[in-house]
Formats: sequence, structure tokens, C-alpha cells
Amino acid sequence: MTNPLLEDWTTPFDMPPYDRITDDDYAEAFEAAMAEARANIAAIADDQEAPTFANTIEALERADETLSKVLSAFYAIAGADSNDKREALQREFSPKLAAYGSEITMNKALYDRIAALWEQKDKLDLTDEQKRVLYLTHRGFVRAGAQLDGVERDRLKEVKQRLAVLGTEFTQNLLADERSWFMELTEDDLEGLPGFVVDTARAAGEEKGANGPVVTLSRSLIVPFLQFSPRRELRERAHRAWTSRGMNGGKTDNREIAGEILKLREERAKLLGYENFAAYKLETEMAKSPEAVRDLLLQVWKPAKAAAEADAAVLTDMLHEDGINGDLEAWDWRYYSEKRRKIEHDLDEAELKPYLQLDRMIEAAFTCANRLFGLEFRPLDVPGYHPDVRTYEVLRNGKHLAVFIGDYFARGSKRSGAWCSAMRSQQKLAGDIRPVVINVCNFAKPEKGKPALLSYDDARTLFHEFGHALHQMLSDVTYESISGTSVARDFVELPSQLYEHWLEVPEVLGEFATHAETGEPMPKDLLDRLLAATTYDAGHSTVEYVASALVDLEFHDGNAPADAMARQQEVLDELGMPKAIGMRHATPHFAHVFAGDGYSCGYYSYMWSEVMDADAFEAFKENGGAFDPAMAEKLEQNILSAGGSEEADVLYTRFRGKMPGVEALLKGRGLLDDAA
Ligand SMILES: [Zn+2]
Repeated sequence: MTNPLLEDWTTPFDMPPYDRITDDDYAEAFEAAMAEARANIAAIADDQEAPTFANTIEALERADETLSKVLSAFYAIAGADSNDKREALQREFSPKLAAYGSEITMNKALYDRIAALWEQKDKLDLTDEQKRVLYLTHRGFVRAGAQLDGVERDRLKEVKQRLAVLGTEFTQNLLADERSWFMELTEDDLEGLPGFVVDTARAAGEEKGANGPVVTLSRSLIVPFLQFSPRRELRERAHRAWTSRGMNGGKTDNREIAGEILKLREERAKLLGYENFAAYKLETEMAKSPEAVRDLLLQVWKPAKAAAEADAAVLTDMLHEDGINGDLEAWDWRYYSEKRRKIEHDLDEAELKPYLQLDRMIEAAFTCANRLFGLEFRPLDVPGYHPDVRTYEVLRNGKHLAVFIGDYFARGSKRSGAWCSAMRSQQKLAGDIRPVVINVCNFAKPEKGKPALLSYDDARTLFHEFGHALHQMLSDVTYESISGTSVARDFVELPSQLYEHWLEVPEVLGEFATHAETGEPMPKDLLDRLLAATTYDAGHSTVEYVASALVDLEFHDGNAPADAMARQQEVLDELGMPKAIGMRHATPHFAHVFAGDGYSCGYYSYMWSEVMDADAFEAFKENGGAFDPAMAEKLEQNILSAGGSEEADVLYTRFRGKMPGVEALLKGRGLLDDAA
């Protein structure tokens, strides 16, 4: 029997044939693809011909075509629809992949060829894009330790492999804690919960096999529960469980893993000649240094904290008016904040919700992409990896541009959060390859027959991930290594966060926010109140975010802490963290930082990008409005199609004419008044 993963796929647009792939196929395909990639690498390294851009850099770009095909098919389901077998495969693959990666960057003969090309770069008659790819390839090898020898070389390899294992364990422990906890609710416990929360709780109860409704740790259930439940003791129990993920003792506890990861990262940076991990990590980002990151975060921290403290005083009064003595606690904030929102903005999440239908919000995201970039979306009938997955062909002027996959509903087998990944990236080296892009979210799945309704936050998440998808789908470069979202980490959130702004364009909500039962558009007055309230509670959300970002930074700037949890507390104490606000992600469940290397010392990136997205949307407003065709064209040309073909600040300046300051961000968050 042949392995379907290793065949040439005859599916439309080379989509993985999930209907024929079984979990038993992955290991064999993985081994075969890995062997093929190794042979390709050896052939490049041992080539008797003198190194050229084609026989070395381009050959390297293509060396792992089969491997990346197998892995993208696998990782899509491992993240979005896991099971015991897939988790075991992940544990098995991750150290092997780390070893393979090390083998390439530690291949002396291969590095010598790249270094020789780098030496003669000005004589090679390369295009700008080729120069950029050569620069990045060379830099990648150096940063991975290609110049190390002997004991140091061996040790670096060990460190990387151990880090890969720990990252996978961290993720799996978190998933285990999220899955195992739920709180059963009696009919009395449903008091005060709006219909959509009750429906979600009942659907979750069914999924868990409970006798009635339950609260789980899924963000789309626990957050509304904390917002609406007047039962303080239940809110406290749920909140404690939510913030204890990864720190419940026993086999799934992540605290020691986090500490070991930090020590190994420090060792890795020092082996490579850097002062600490932050210096190593930030070298290739727009920010460049820990000082620049800290400077931005603290500029935002001060006004945010002032706003949060003023809010806390109001909410504490409301708590006392309810006859509860003592302090406002973290499990009280969302509840009283929601009450206050109803009073001050006359805006009630439950009143809003029927107008935010998932299907209509998808249509809204598609329509904005049509008005800005001329994209069209057609449903595509191909077998997905799960029945909830929706697939579309994306076209422009009748020409195929990409495949877009949306996987929107939460389920136990999906890791938490929302993300965008490419099952296939755009490139032209191996032919005109167009991307296959996937958006994964965790929206509450409705009961059968009822429409899926979103919170306003969910709708923003949908637009956010779609912004990343556009960055992939509009990509127009030759080399895969700089395609789509392959840009500096603190630049990658610009397209996604920028796209969120189109949700706030009044005519978009006016058209697509229609009532699930009556089909009526959102009343003008509700729309106005919604838009007026978009910066509501910004003190809270900014404080919980900036605290997490600063802990992440301080973990990596300097020597690794002896005790990560103690260091976290120290940073929060120094900041004067308001008592009733927790970190958005505390260390034991801070997957951005510990599940892998991606956002380590990089959680600040969202805010770094926000400085630009706030300014970039201003540019549309200054030049003819949200759908101004000339600005859309500039955005596509200089940012969305450009991938990593240039340094991020060059791309941004080309789009906008200058780099932005922090003002547009503070204004966007409604924090400018407190900034003096
Ligand atoms: Zn993002």
C-alpha cells in the first residue's frame, strides 16, 4: 500500500487528501520525507561544483519540499484536532526535527559554501530579493551556531533538542489542564446568564458528557460567565481554575518546565556570544534592543495603569453597593465592568450578540477584502480534516489566488487561542505556487439548528486572523523563505491588527451586523453606542497585556531567574500591578513564550505592531477613507505582497512616508488624556 502523504496529490490545489490519510500514515511519511531532505542537503554540501546562488541557496530553499508538505498536513490537525495518537506523534517528531535543523545549520561543508557566497555577494549579479535571501540564510546559519566547534557545538545541539521537547510538553500539559476541568451548573446557577451563555454552557455540558450545563476553560465560555454571573463564589472558583492552568501540581505542572526553558535559552544565547537571550532574540526584530521594547511598554503602562486605577475605584464602589465588603478581586472585575458598561454606554453584550452572526462576520471580512483588493471567495467542496472546516477558493479578476480555510468552532481536541497558518506558502521557485491558508478560532459552537453568534471580541479575532491570511494570500515573492508572514516577529501583527480596524468602520457593521432572527440591521443607535464603547475598559486590557509583555521581557533580559514564579512576582511588584487585574497570560500557561521559540521575548510584538497599525489606519482616514483605492494599493504593494523581502522599517516607511510615534496607539486605546 502506498502512503497517501507521499503521493503526488491530485486534489484541487494540492490540498492534503485528509479523507485518505490515517494517523498511521504520518510516522512513515515523516521518516521517508526526512531521509529525502537529508539526501538533498548532503548533495548540496558535497557538490563538487563551486558554490553558486542556484546550486546552494536555491537548492536549499527546495531541499525539504516533501518534508514540509507532510508536516503542514500534520501540524494543521495536531493543533486544531488532536488526539492521543497525534500528540504522541508530536512528541516523537519534535526532537527529531530539532536534530534535523541542527544538522543542517551545523553542516560545516554547507556553511562554507554559504559563507563563500556571502563573501562574494557584490560580484554575483543578484536581484535585490536574492541578496536579501542570501543575507537571511547566512545570518540564520550564524545565529544557529554554524561557526561553533567542538564541545560548544555539541552542547548547543543538546540544548536545542531539549528545548524542543520541553516546548511540546508545556503545550500538552496546558491542553490537559484545559480539558480536564469543568464546573457543573445547577439550574439555579444559571441566574443572570444571558441566553447565549446558557446555550453555550449546555452545549459544553453535552460535549463533556455531564448531566447539565457546565463552565469550561474555553475563553468563549469562561469570559462571558465571569462577565454575567452574579454568583461571586462561582466566579471565584471558575477564575481560580482558569488562572491555575499549568500550575496544579502533578504531571501537568508547567512551573519547573518554564524555569528550565529560561535557563537553556540563556545558555544558548551565551554559547552564541550574546550577553543574554533578549539581546540574541531582539537583534533580528524591528525593535533591535531590550531598551527599545521596555521604553515602548513603559510609555503605555503609565497611562494604562492610571486609567485602570480610576476604573477600579468605580467598580469597588459598585461592589460595596452590592453589600459586599472588602476589596475588588480579579473575579469581580469583568462582572462589575459589564454592569457599568450597561449603565454608562447603555450597551449590553446580550443585546449586541444576536447581531454578530459568525456567517455574516465571515462575509464582512470577505467583502472588505473585495473592496480593498478585489478578492472573491467561492466555497470549495474538498474533504477537510474535520466536518466543521469550511474551504474557499480565492480569486482575483477570475484568476486563482489562494485557498482559504476557516475552522471556527471550539472543541476539546483544539488548542486554545486563534491562529493563522499556511498549509502551503506562496513562492515562484518551484513554479507559480499559490498559498493554502488556514484560520483557526475557538468560537462557541451553537446548539444544532441555532446560528453561531459572536461577541464583539470574537468578531475582532476573526478579522485579526483574516488579516494574517491576507498577508499570506497576497504574497508575491520568488522565495518561500521570505514569503507571506515570514517577517520580523514585531512586524507580523501589523496586517492582522490593521485589518481589525475595518470591523469598526460604521458602514461595515451597518451592512453585516444583522439580527439572527429578524434579519434587521443593527439599529443606528446601538451601532453608535457600540462604536463609542470600543475603547471601554482599555485600562484593564492594556494593563493585563503590558504586565505579561514586561514579565516576558525581564525573564530574558539578564540571567535566567532561579525561580521563574518568584521573578514574575518581583516584576509585577515593581510595576505596582493593580490587585484586581491578573496578567493576561501568567507563566505556567504563557504558551506564546514557552510553547516554542516564536514569541519568546516577543509578546511585546502585538503592541509594537499596534503603534504601526493605529498609524496606518490613520493614513487611510487622511487619504479618502477606509476603502481608499490608492492607499489599499500602497498597502498591498509595500506590505501585504512584500513578505520579508526588505527590512520592516523600510517597507513601512515606503507605505507611510515616515515611522510613527506612540500617539496614534494611545489615542486608539482612548488613553491619550491620561498620557500627560
Ligand atoms: Zn496575530
